[in-house]
Amino acid sequence: MTVLVASDLDRTLIYSAAALGLDMPDAEAPRLLCVEVYQGKPLSYLTEAAAGLVAELGRTAVFVPTTTRTPEQYRRVHLPGPPPRFAICANGGHLLVDGESDPEWHAAVRGALADSCAPLEEVRAHLTATADPAWLLKERVAEDLFAYLVVERKLLPDEYVKELTVWAEPRGWTVSLQGRKIYAVPKPLTKSAAVAEVKRRAGADEVLTAGDSFLDADLLEAADHAWRPGHGELATAGWTAPHVTAVEEQGVAAGEAIARALSEHASLHWAKARREVIRAVSRGRD
Ligand SMILES: [Mg+2]
Repeated sequence: MTVLVASDLDRTLIYSAAALGLDMPDAEAPRLLCVEVYQGKPLSYLTEAAAGLVAELGRTAVFVPTTTRTPEQYRRVHLPGPPPRFAICANGGHLLVDGESDPEWHAAVRGALADSCAPLEEVRAHLTATADPAWLLKERVAEDLFAYLVVERKLLPDEYVKELTVWAEPRGWTVSLQGRKIYAVPKPLTKSAAVAEVKRRAGADEVLTAGDSFLDADLLEAADHAWRPGHGELATAGWTAPHVTAVEEQGVAAGEAIARALSEHASLHWAKARREVIRAVSRGRD
């Protein structure tokens, strides 16, 4: 009996300084562990308590970091605990096995995308034509799979993301606003499809997941139990499902609450599996 824990990273388990949401007096703020350095500067954090819980997850479960980050962006993140055997990057476009992208998985994903949604070029052309240099900082393509804009949030008009969503929907693309990034991702490119593949390979019988954004909705739906933080697109939209727990905390405190919930569930599952093995062994002796 194996439990698989597939968790989103950014704003679910790890947080940039801008996303920490530390609203307590400074003297009461939790100690933080930096798990990502970018261009020589600290970038992403979790609380020290969350770090211990994530390390524990690596021992009691098949822990699978499940992110929209490209493999290159993912490799900057050094979570506590044993290096994960599997990781899902590019929103499911890459399945990393012992740190290396599985070429067969990647080819299968590309094949599935080719004839099920509008091509990336069409979406890029639309983004280029509609994004205003007044608030656009960068336009990027990730792994030739999807596109995102880095924007100045204070200057971004409210209606832009709504209009882009309406345009993208009939073309089979999802739009997600996360911090300074607006993602446009093909609907068939999902984290849940890659999780199903890891579940098969790992022989897992229970799946726990966590995530904060619209790009995580399918990941949460596909789980036996799932958690989402009190902040983010899903929280703002009031998104829920019967097996999904919305934690009340926001910011890095939500990350800790989610790590605790995942760790407790994985430990229970692990203890139950151990009892069954012991029972089976003793039955064998009788
Ligand atoms: Mg996220």
